[in-house]
Amino acid sequence: MSKVKVKNPIVEMDGDEQARVMWHLIKRKLILPYMDINLKYFDLSIQNRDHTEDKITKDSALATLKYQVAIKCATITPDEARMKEFHLKKMWKSPNGTIRNILGGTVFREPIIIPKIPRLIKHWESPIIVGRHAFGDQYKAVDLKIPDEGTLQIGYKDKLDGEKSMERKVFEYPKRGGVVMIMYNTTDSIEDFAKASFELALKRNLPLFFATKNTILKNYDGYFKDLFQKIFKEQFEQRFDALGITYEHRLIDDMVAQMLKSKGGFILALKNYDGDVQSDIVAQGFGSLGLMTSVLITPDGKIFESEAAHGTVTRHFRKHQHGEETSTNSIASIFAWSRGIIQRGKLDSTPDVVRFGQWLEKSTIDTVQIDNIMTKDLALLLGKTSRSSYVTTEEFIEAVKNRLDKELKKFNE
Ligand code: NAD
Repeated sequence: MSKVKVKNPIVEMDGDEQARVMWHLIKRKLILPYMDINLKYFDLSIQNRDHTEDKITKDSALATLKYQVAIKCATITPDEARMKEFHLKKMWKSPNGTIRNILGGTVFREPIIIPKIPRLIKHWESPIIVGRHAFGDQYKAVDLKIPDEGTLQIGYKDKLDGEKSMERKVFEYPKRGGVVMIMYNTTDSIEDFAKASFELALKRNLPLFFATKNTILKNYDGYFKDLFQKIFKEQFEQRFDALGITYEHRLIDDMVAQMLKSKGGFILALKNYDGDVQSDIVAQGFGSLGLMTSVLITPDGKIFESEAAHGTVTRHFRKHQHGEETSTNSIASIFAWSRGIIQRGKLDSTPDVVRFGQWLEKSTIDTVQIDNIMTKDLALLLGKTSRSSYVTTEEFIEAVKNRLDKELKKFNE
């Protein structure tokens, strides 16, 4: 069978440890035999980031700006222990942070649903995609201890127009003081977050909710709510209507309660802190880190980077290094590839490329759902602990390949 021709390149960002082991297996077994694809390869391993003084990470992000689609393997974010382990010149920053700073955009986490794998929240039958506004608020806040009795004031000095400057008395501290936090956000960043959220809803054909606590923070959260509403009305409402999907703002407490009761099947955009907390709740509710994907999407909806939400799975890599057998779940990494391939196919208007990405996803899910072949983490979720209930990292990818071959054979018959 001839290979599926991919018109434009995909940026490939390689990573570290067990995630890298899986990445190469996927590429060799599930991609290259089937696709005629120009991969712009960037080795983001910790060794190469150190060797290039992290230039490789910036270059990979710049290439993504150029080619619009990237797929990324999990990478080590160095800490003190990693500095020693790899004799690093510097504690290089998180590659995801560096890439996001260059591309902008919002990260959305999405679970992969396999019907037979039980979920903690059993009635979550469809994905809940959580988007987190990864700028400002608590994460850039100034927080201080106040030592004793005194007055707290807040001031804003306008750069050009003194009339617009403001001073407010915030609080009179009693004896023994307390604490204070000042946090901020910007109009540009909130608008970009709104646009990325609306774009993803259109791309995935799913309803969008945005939740805040605007009843308490009338100016702060109220501003988020108003900007979302304005952009929706001006730029997206017609396209939402055409697809029959909706956008609604909800109070965060109502939203969380409704989310727990729901069957899933929507996108939830959240402010920075809420997104941090809720994305972990949703990940747990769906069950396994090995089934969680993540995409970064820019406000214009054009640039797209996909990856597995988990890390480099160091614990399994140590076993692999010692020649021991591993059973690491590669599903989220396979979906990092397939989502990138589908996006490339859509941008290039090449339906056969989109179809291949969809086959790859179907084959992966059917391997678990129909063939009952899975890695240890999923077998454990099914309450199975015996060695015969799961396969190795390599065997799982081989099983997906068998399924994919069957799928392709059926199509070509
Ligand atoms: P991790 O996600 O790699 O693993 C945490 C635990 O979750 C594992 O011990 C394992 O029990 C389970 N797990 C995760 N993915 C699994 C899979 N595919 N199959 C089976 N079990 C799985 O997180 P960690 O151990 O905290 O971090 C390891 C390294 O990964 C760190 O150096 C960190 O910097 C990096 N990291 C990278 C990213 C990224 O690149 N996006 C994200 C998180 C962590």
